Amino acid sequence: MAPTAPQRTIVVVGGNAAGLAAASRAKRSDPTARVVVFEAGPTPSVSNCNFSYVLSGKLDGPSRVVAHPPGYFTARGLELELESPVVEVRATERRLRVEPRGGAAYEAAYDRLVYCAGALARRLEVPGRDEGGVHALHSYTDFTALHADLGGRDPERMIVVGGGFKALSVGAALSRRFAVSLVCVEPRPLPDLAPELLAVLEEHLAGLGVDVHAGRNPAGYLHDRSGRLVGLEADGATIPGGFALELIGVLPNTAPLGGALELDRRSGAVVVDTRQATSLDGVYAAGDCAVAHHALLPGRHHLPNGALANRAGRVAGANAAGGSRRSAPALGTRATELYGLELSRTGLGLEEARAAGYDARRVYVKALNHATFHLPRVYLHASAVFEEGSGRLLGVQLAGPSGANHRINAAAAAVAVGMSVGEAAGLDFAYHPHSSPVWDPLLVLFRAAQRRLEEGE
Ligand SMILES: Cc1cc2nc3c(=O)[nH]c(=O)nc-3n(C[C@H](O)[C@H](O)[C@H](O)COP(=O)(O)OP(=O)(O)OC[C@H]3O[C@@H](n4cnc5c(N)ncnc54)[C@H](O)[C@@H]3O)c2cc1C
Repeated sequence: MAPTAPQRTIVVVGGNAAGLAAASRAKRSDPTARVVVFEAGPTPSVSNCNFSYVLSGKLDGPSRVVAHPPGYFTARGLELELESPVVEVRATERRLRVEPRGGAAYEAAYDRLVYCAGALARRLEVPGRDEGGVHALHSYTDFTALHADLGGRDPERMIVVGGGFKALSVGAALSRRFAVSLVCVEPRPLPDLAPELLAVLEEHLAGLGVDVHAGRNPAGYLHDRSGRLVGLEADGATIPGGFALELIGVLPNTAPLGGALELDRRSGAVVVDTRQATSLDGVYAAGDCAVAHHALLPGRHHLPNGALANRAGRVAGANAAGGSRRSAPALGTRATELYGLELSRTGLGLEEARAAGYDARRVYVKALNHATFHLPRVYLHASAVFEEGSGRLLGVQLAGPSGANHRINAAAAAVAVGMSVGEAAGLDFAYHPHSSPVWDPLLVLFRAAQRRLEEGE
């Protein structure tokens, strides 16, 4: 009988988007491999994007944020070690140290490692942050702590600190239950959003009752004598609120690596190539802990994002199992839904494009979202950034009550393949009165950009 190859052990650190995509792909690529996932938290497969829907009351119960129970993964042959944080990776020895909650610490050996420990919430460094009523909202633990703390309490006003996609979506969701103050350090939310779309966003937030305090410098949280949060002090004024949520970005979670892998100097994320391979042979990384490669920008970038984490995880898992896949470059495509307003973007905004050295221009249109035979008029606001001369499409941003989020993927495809605005204006898009007019808003946008290019205005 021919000798069989020894069973390979692939260890994955982190049991969420990137880690589970990696583990599932590794097991499918090499069904003979032992694939072990160490997850620090009590559950795998958490949908962070659903936190706001549970907090707003749109989805009932915290269990709705778990996409799949452990059995879903073990039935597929994965070994899942929950509440088992990896505290140290000894990459040169191909071993790691695990400290399970309530159990004795132990070491585990691996042949291949996929590091997918995600990121940690960035926090404000201000007094009062660690006292009552102030939360971060990043991990499952953050979410359950916030959910429990909110419990039956109904603070009159909630403070959301942050001005990015996550802060906006959480702020809009919470406005269904509470009055919300959105506080951001930048002079405006989403600094690279086209001005016409920003106006739409601001009007919508005002309609939801979200009070925007932009360009503010938080100095500290204020609590009363009983320890209850009463507000956030910023620039000498107090923004009142009985609860505060910080959503001000994330930092790559690399502590267990202890310097074993090369980290990006700027972001601190694990350096990987397009195969998701790290600086050490046999070690891969993916998701919010690692860098990504951008289709339009040189160098490495930290682009924390669930869709990207899943895709990169899949590539890392396939390669850990002996494959030779490559991650497609990213475009920073994002979409959100703000209770009546869809907002999405792909590629570069104008300032970002110019800062990267592109001779970039921008065009804006307001176009009908669908034909008007039997539906009320709904408009989509659309902005495109393109390169002078070549006409290359560099980025698209969309906002409207509907139609913005599904359309951004067609725009992302056009940017990804390097289309000019002229080529994109000729794309064969479908017409059906319910979902799009004969001239889809994206085609209207690309045509306007083409005209601007030809006229050289
Ligand atoms: C409120 C909110 C809304 C969001 N909305 C969207 C959205 O609409 N679209 C989108 O694309 N993205 C969204 N995101 C971002 C998205 O959730 C993340 O980018 C994505 O989860 C990253 O996946 P990941 O696997 O890299 O990291 P994570 O999801 O953070 O997973 C890392 C896992 O590793 C575990 N871990 C950490 N350290 C260790 C250790 N030492 N040992 C073992 N396990 C460890 C953690 O417990 C965690 O389960 C949102 C995030 C938040 C917070």
